[in-house]
Amino acid sequence: MTITALMPVYPRCGVRPVRGEGVYLYGEDGEQYLDFAAGIAVNALGHGHPKLVEAIAKQAATLMHVSNLYGSPQGEHFAQRLVDSTFADTVFFTNSGAEAVECAIKTARRYHFANGNPQRHTLITFNNAFHGRTLGAISATNQPKMRDGFEPLLPGFAYAPFDDLEAALALIDENTAGFLVEPIQGEGGLRPASMEFLQGLRRACDEHGLLLVLDEVQCGYGRTGKFFAHELYGVTPDIMASAKGIGGGFPLGACLATEEAAKGMVAGTHGSTYGGNPLAMAAGEAVLDVMQEPGFLEHVEAMGQRLRATLEQMIPNFDHLFEEVRGHGLMQGLKMKSDSRRFVAHCRDNHGLLLVAAGENVIRILPPLTIDESHITEFATKLSDAARVYVPAADD
Ligand code: PMP
Repeated sequence: MTITALMPVYPRCGVRPVRGEGVYLYGEDGEQYLDFAAGIAVNALGHGHPKLVEAIAKQAATLMHVSNLYGSPQGEHFAQRLVDSTFADTVFFTNSGAEAVECAIKTARRYHFANGNPQRHTLITFNNAFHGRTLGAISATNQPKMRDGFEPLLPGFAYAPFDDLEAALALIDENTAGFLVEPIQGEGGLRPASMEFLQGLRRACDEHGLLLVLDEVQCGYGRTGKFFAHELYGVTPDIMASAKGIGGGFPLGACLATEEAAKGMVAGTHGSTYGGNPLAMAAGEAVLDVMQEPGFLEHVEAMGQRLRATLEQMIPNFDHLFEEVRGHGLMQGLKMKSDSRRFVAHCRDNHGLLLVAAGENVIRILPPLTIDESHITEFATKLSDAARVYVPAADD
């Protein structure tokens, strides 16, 4: 591949959206796409939500950026609302998911350091997880395709098979800091953890003085019908990374922690020029305002059930292509019997339907949380039309 003005790290495709409205994206020639990818679980309120647009415009005109050296009333206000709505006592704002994961890793290490146990630096993470593309995050992500050629990576990670409690517990030793885990693996193939697994990790943390660090960058922030996915499991973390939906499209992430887990993060230990920027805080508050409107999460839950039922009804009609549905709320995965990337490209190029491929030949269905029944009906029509004419490649 020849070099281009944009570093060519993404495969090219024919879709170049220039405008978005609600659940639809529009290309340069006005072609319309039903967006059931939502920027990979980012556009929680769809495209161009008036409350989000207005909040950003207003804040941009008032104060766009000020250094964290001067304190941040906007950050304090938004952090307090997150603390009031979650397990957490304190929040560090970032600009992305990977940075939120980095902060979570640093917070976990500093906790044990502050307790006089600096040797407890190793986080047990899980195969097929995805935690982002920075060096710390790829060190936590045990996938050769994301790591090859970037060595040496960060020491301090051990890897167990996902959803295998026994294997995870067997890795605990005197260097263990805790576990870093996605309650529902996204990129890895939309795999929800079992109750026993996540609850077992929590129990082990309590027994051994370890930290449970959750990566809810993709599965959090209303997507499953709960504010955060760990609520589905009756489990609370000590530290959690959030991003994607939290900004509704504005680059925003957050590392949330209990007071105890954050005890090592004192003045001077961490920072970010843009983290908690007033514009990002305005975007975050606007998304949270909508998400905390009465009935919003119940709506996600209801739409999730409808989406799931629609997919389950479709499987018998196309059982040569589709195998099973898995997920929660508006984070659903459809497992295919052949290459899901090719099918996702087919839906995109021939049927105006945007989806996302994941590992294990799964199609991820991650629409804006603001969809209604009519969008699910339209999605089902497009997906059936696409499946009816689709022929998997012989080598898929
Ligand atoms: N963690 C998880 C679970 C993710 O799904 C992602 C992004 N897909 C990340 C971390 C990294 O987020 P970002 O791309 O914003 O750095």
